Amino acid sequence: MIRKLLRRVFRRRDEPSRHEPAVISQARHGIDRSHVSQAARRTCETLQQAGHKAYVVGGAVRDLIAGIDPKDFDVATDATPEQVRHLFRRSRIIGRRFQIVHVMFGPETIEVSTFRAAHDENTVKDEHGRVLRDNVWGSMEEDAARRDFTVNALYYDPGTETVIDYHHGVADLKQKTLRMIGEPRSRYREDPVRMLRAVRLSAKLGLALDPAVSAPIRAMADLMENVPAARLFDEMQKLLFSGHAVECLKRLRDEGLHHGLLPLLDVILEQPLGERFVMASLASTDDRVRAGRSTSPGFLFATLLWHEVLAAWEKRKASGEYAVPAMFAAMDEVLEMQAGKLAIPKRILGDVKEIWLLQPRFEKRSGGSPFRLLEQPRFRAAYDFLLLRADSGEAPRELADWWTEFQEADHGGREALLRPDTGPKKRRRRSRGRGGRDEAAGGAMPGPAGEAPSGGGD
Ligand code: ATP
Ligand code: MG
Repeated sequence: MIRKLLRRVFRRRDEPSRHEPAVISQARHGIDRSHVSQAARRTCETLQQAGHKAYVVGGAVRDLIAGIDPKDFDVATDATPEQVRHLFRRSRIIGRRFQIVHVMFGPETIEVSTFRAAHDENTVKDEHGRVLRDNVWGSMEEDAARRDFTVNALYYDPGTETVIDYHHGVADLKQKTLRMIGEPRSRYREDPVRMLRAVRLSAKLGLALDPAVSAPIRAMADLMENVPAARLFDEMQKLLFSGHAVECLKRLRDEGLHHGLLPLLDVILEQPLGERFVMASLASTDDRVRAGRSTSPGFLFATLLWHEVLAAWEKRKASGEYAVPAMFAAMDEVLEMQAGKLAIPKRILGDVKEIWLLQPRFEKRSGGSPFRLLEQPRFRAAYDFLLLRADSGEAPRELADWWTEFQEADHGGREALLRPDTGPKKRRRRSRGRGGRDEAAGGAMPGPAGEAPSGGGD
């Protein structure tokens, strides 16, 4: 009701151009200037002193009004990238999909972008209507119109402490609604990633999706297939490390966006075996992000795909392959399946594989092996991974506890914890045959239910 009234008062319908923005005072938007980074304030000041318009824009303004500390600050200006570049000694032009300038102040980088024009018939698009290039400068009003959601089209002037609002974003934010600027269907066609952004931002800010924003998603989800893999990976990474990953996935499911969208998401949400494990891992990632602690993409992707690896590995063993080569093959199989759609960078893939390959080594609790494992650079990540496996019931709790004790003990204590060398699990001597891989996979892999590996058991 109130929303309708607010809209009637504030909004003429679909006005394409020439409408005066609302200028919202500090008393109404409530932004505390001391929460705006020094670097962003100085960037605006320098640009304004040179005669340009300059505002903090986008997610940072939205977050400040919502009472969240922004993770970075963007500035929008009517100065061209060249002009910006000349005003700041430590700056450089970055030319990707959009040309922007990075302005550096100490450890902080401010992204400065020039106001961009609205799309017209000259905009370069692919055959599905996806916008491919977007480098035409425009007015501030046009710049606001090409942003995705009303809450993302707010411009904050640190000098006057006012917010310029063309699309009633402040009212929507206070009403806790995520509303699209323009017609949602055509905005999704221009850039399908906006569907994922809608879900992520609604989870992050606790906003309800305007029905017009959510209604087309189910039918349009297939458009995600045309988005380049690297961009999808970036977006997935943002979602998974937003501090609200569990909520994001729940909302993706509600919107029907998880289905067929990304093989990775299908994997996460549709494997009964792994769901507990994956959810535990996402919840702990959320906790870490919110507490400002470090997170590792390698670790998270290793958890997301682990049960796929386990399943593939089991299948191969059941068809008579040896355990260790079967493990390597299972790993490659699962990673290949993901590679086509989701471009996981090589560096992250390396971490993923290492964490997986260290898991079998936790099985060996005799001789020098546990000591060598402790010295592995990735030991900590692999151990955390083992704890998660134990929490989800896939690895024996007793094994995880043993490793906790082993780490905490002094040298003598560790010696005392070692198991006799001739354990029942020891089936083969280590061989040098696999070019150094033998150590990594030397132990026996537990099965999905956590049982010790079998010589030929069930
Ligand atoms: P986050 O909290 O993740 O940083 P954000 O909204 O700031 O969220 P960015 O990717 O940093 O996301 O984008 C900055 C701003 O650029 C957005 O607030 C929005 O105004 C605009 N923007 C980003 N992506 C799109 C898009 N796909 N379509 C239209 N506008 C976009
Ligand atoms: Mg941002």
